[in-house]
Amino acid sequence: MDHSEILAWLKETNEERLDKLWRNTDVVRKQYVGDEVHLRGLIEISNYCVRQCGYCGLRRDNGKLERYRMTADEIMACVREAEGYGYGTVVLQSGEDYGIETEWLADIVRRIKAETGLAVTLSMGERPNEDLEVWRQAGADRYLLRFETSAPTLYRLIHPSVPGKTSDRIAILRKLREIGYEVGSGVMIGIPGQTYESIARDIELFRQLDLDMIGVGPYIPHPATPLGIGQWKSAIPADEQAPNTEEMTYKVIALARIVCPEANIPSTTALATINTATGRELGLMRGANVVMPNLTPPQYRANYEIYPAKACIKETGPDCHRCLLRRIESIGRRPGKGRGDRSAFSNGLEKKAGF
Ligand code: SAM
Ligand code: SF4
Repeated sequence: MDHSEILAWLKETNEERLDKLWRNTDVVRKQYVGDEVHLRGLIEISNYCVRQCGYCGLRRDNGKLERYRMTADEIMACVREAEGYGYGTVVLQSGEDYGIETEWLADIVRRIKAETGLAVTLSMGERPNEDLEVWRQAGADRYLLRFETSAPTLYRLIHPSVPGKTSDRIAILRKLREIGYEVGSGVMIGIPGQTYESIARDIELFRQLDLDMIGVGPYIPHPATPLGIGQWKSAIPADEQAPNTEEMTYKVIALARIVCPEANIPSTTALATINTATGRELGLMRGANVVMPNLTPPQYRANYEIYPAKACIKETGPDCHRCLLRRIESIGRRPGKGRGDRSAFSNGLEKKAGF
């Protein structure tokens, strides 16, 4: 699928043709990654952040947010919970928090690897290469770092560099691959100033980077951020602005599945936030094969407020687990067994989808 085809699908409004896109995507998903939906237990270990992203409620200057950092024992209790539910992976995520010391996290990764059979995914922001190497040596398997948008001017506007260090997430993604991680990235959809053209280039970049994991969710405005209150603007004609809608998000998930058929693609919480009734299921029916039940302890959850009214904020670990199982089974899919590595798809499955 070339640039003009991707762009045409992004602008498509005809329901019958979109139905065909959803159906064909589901065929590709089934042929490459099967009917299993992998569950990755998400633990939001800290909401401290040194960055000033224009879109995110965890940005350093949001003084209204009560900050927390989980203890090693609290994290391990969540890991045990994930193991108890039979998940294959835990995802440790945080703001870019240098209060999380390199060796402290390496010890936790070593403990998880020594005491459980779980895969470990990290999502800690733009940490120095040395940290990424230490964590990989400690046993971390995967790293998630969305490039957010491939449009350089928009990226610089919404994601300012910290003094003395230019933010280059694409370079970090290449480094992560070199170090030996499975690499995940992705984008937000409908950022003010984001064009259809630039989303088409984002999708082509997924293919170029040969991503193992691709996270795509709608941009949701946060009133404690410059972007959320319209303070930062990128001037583009109104008809070129990509909407931050559910349908636009499904299109990007579907196209990501077609260009990177073996990738692990989650049906995200942001999607479930803008359609609490069926967003998760529709994401899974339109290309996704992963969900990330939230295991963050209830006393911390509300403070991991990257955007308002986040889905599943009050549910406990068992609530999230039961709810997601029910949703997976309601669409005729089954919970995944094992770690759900991308390499398992590359090595084990016949690839015959043509689209
Ligand atoms: N600090 C790490 C980082 O930036 O990669 C990990 C945590 S960060 C909260 C995880 C993701 O949340 C970001 O990559 C971004 O895509 C998403 N996010 C942040 N603010 C958002 C918003 N207002 N709407 C939708 N997604 C948002
Ligand atoms: Fe920090 Fe990540 Fe939020 Fe940016 S997106 S402010 S790096 S938590």
